Amino acid sequence: MTELKIHPPSADFVKNAKIDAAKYEEMYARSISDPDGFWGEAAERLDWIKKPSKIKNTDFSYPDVSIKWFEDGELNVAVNCVDRHVASRGDQVAIIWESDDPNVAKHITYKELSANVNKFANIYKKLGVKKGDRVVLYMPMIPEAAYAMLASARIGAVHSIVFAGFSPEALASRVNDSDAALIITADEAPRGGRNTPLKANVDKAREHTGNVPTLVVERTGGDVHMEPGVDHGYTALFEEASDQCEPEAMNAEDPLFILYTSGSTGTPKGVLHTTGGYLLYAAMTHEYTFDYHDGDIFWCTADVGWVTGHSYIVYGPLANGATTLMFEGVPTYPDVGRFWQVCEKHKVNQFYTAPTAIRALMRHGTEPVERHDLSSLKVLGTVGEPINPEAWEWYNEVVGKGTRPIVDTWWQTETGGHMMTPLPGAHATKPGAAMKPFFGVQPVVLDPQTGKEIDETECEGVLCIKDSWPGQMRTVFRNHDRFVKTYFADYKGYYFSGDGCRRDADGDYWITGRVDDVINVSGHRMGTAEVESALVAHSKVAEAAVVGFPHALKGQGIYCYVTLMEGEPYNDELREELVAWVRKEIGPIAKPDFIQWAPGLPKTRSGKIMRRILRKIAENDFGALGDTSTLADPGVVDDLIDNRMNK
Ligand code: ATP
Ligand code: MG
Repeated sequence: MTELKIHPPSADFVKNAKIDAAKYEEMYARSISDPDGFWGEAAERLDWIKKPSKIKNTDFSYPDVSIKWFEDGELNVAVNCVDRHVASRGDQVAIIWESDDPNVAKHITYKELSANVNKFANIYKKLGVKKGDRVVLYMPMIPEAAYAMLASARIGAVHSIVFAGFSPEALASRVNDSDAALIITADEAPRGGRNTPLKANVDKAREHTGNVPTLVVERTGGDVHMEPGVDHGYTALFEEASDQCEPEAMNAEDPLFILYTSGSTGTPKGVLHTTGGYLLYAAMTHEYTFDYHDGDIFWCTADVGWVTGHSYIVYGPLANGATTLMFEGVPTYPDVGRFWQVCEKHKVNQFYTAPTAIRALMRHGTEPVERHDLSSLKVLGTVGEPINPEAWEWYNEVVGKGTRPIVDTWWQTETGGHMMTPLPGAHATKPGAAMKPFFGVQPVVLDPQTGKEIDETECEGVLCIKDSWPGQMRTVFRNHDRFVKTYFADYKGYYFSGDGCRRDADGDYWITGRVDDVINVSGHRMGTAEVESALVAHSKVAEAAVVGFPHALKGQGIYCYVTLMEGEPYNDELREELVAWVRKEIGPIAKPDFIQWAPGLPKTRSGKIMRRILRKIAENDFGALGDTSTLADPGVVDDLIDNRMNK
């Protein structure tokens, strides 16, 4: 078995860190024993119009689940993210925008951000958007997306962002589900040197949505259809709009946004987040997880279409008065060194990305990284999927030169912010482990059969959370029943994450993947992530996805989809070698029953492997693949089915 390496932070790092090991222990203990005291004090980092007198009022009892934080407090998110910084840091850059074109970037100060958000808010008003209305954003990664979010918060509207890579059908279903008063889009979205026709997609979506009024930002100036009375050009409205707009006083429990989950396990859910608790939790996790210091340049590579972009490009960093980098492009354009070129150009201090990006870049070797000066980096982060130790080590050695702490952050659209992660100055990290709960988070491991909490330190099972934290989602938009059933019905009294985990002898947590992805081979339960990690540890393997399938003797067998490194030939000899390799790495019980070559894997638009589709293909059940509207490249599925049928 691959040996476990532990990576403590350097003494220097610890000395300058906001939270060291002792401080973490002390704060964590207080957050659990005295949540009202802890969060009441923490809430002072926000500017309140009316300070809350009630802090926590939450109940996980099925079916009367109710979650309220700071329920009599009043505040405005835009004031917290923009206005209050103008006096103290008006000339500091709030947003660095790096365009798809490597020669174009913009720097927007807090003063400019304030004017732009106010103008945007007045455009909303002019177009008739009122407090409580939903606005759908279908936008490129441009500063106007951040203005649109903050302006929505300023007037008390509720935004719902639909990732710009989604099809007209996926857009239409989200516009209809949220009953949107306005769509904000752009003419086109440049990405990787190609333009996605966003406005034309909105036009197509109208077949299902009718003529929802639409604001069109002129990003490329491309020719688009403008329907009189329905479509409105942004620039003209922006130029005439006043840069003064009174913020709406919002109750802490008023909705801030709706966001649909990525759909890797089923039909996307309209997750609803509210104002006070969400903002506090995003801000606090941003500061502590990344050890963010004033003046640092923070870069989260996610799209604002995902929760990661909401919490760690816009709300968390801006609430903290940070400088946040927003990137319009892709990691491989104009070449596979783009991420590192951007880090060098803007002297990025904290870099936060996804395992899927790391694995993709790893395939191209170390040279594209080493070409760039990455000395500004202080902390590296990952999110979205379990990171296999092989990719973790590459990230650590090649990008971090072995000296930057890596925070592997486990969380969900539903949780609003990080739930488990090492804090960089407090915890020695273990490659692939999410390590420790954030303040206020009480993870428990349940026995999947009995539903009982497992008390032993070392164990494996279903990951649930025992009590509420401020960033928790409050409901599924207009479907509270689905909220209660999805998260609170299977294990009464707990929030059910849907993920499995292992707790090691030190009490550190490892996410093993979705509970559905645990396979039972001859009575032995194992996470598919473990087999995937073993496969990826082989030098010729770039990526692997493992699922269970019905097996006459063993109950479930192990079915592996494998993508090889650039240029490696796919042949039977290597197939046998990989079977032997996994057997040696994990043990005879994990010996793959079948390896299917997969030059491409079905992924969501956010880069997650859709194992539910792979399970169906492994089972030879091609008829019922379920919701595939969030797939990045549906063609991959047909190729895998063809391959499967030819066996
Ligand atoms: P859906 O809920 O519609 O199936 P989704 O769960 O993929 O979609 P997200 O909220 O974007 O939507 O993803 C959260 C999930 O991502 C977690 O439940 C977990 O399975 C996985 N995940 C996120 N971060 C990590 C991490 N650091 N380690 C392991 N898994 C992670
Ligand atoms: Mg989920």
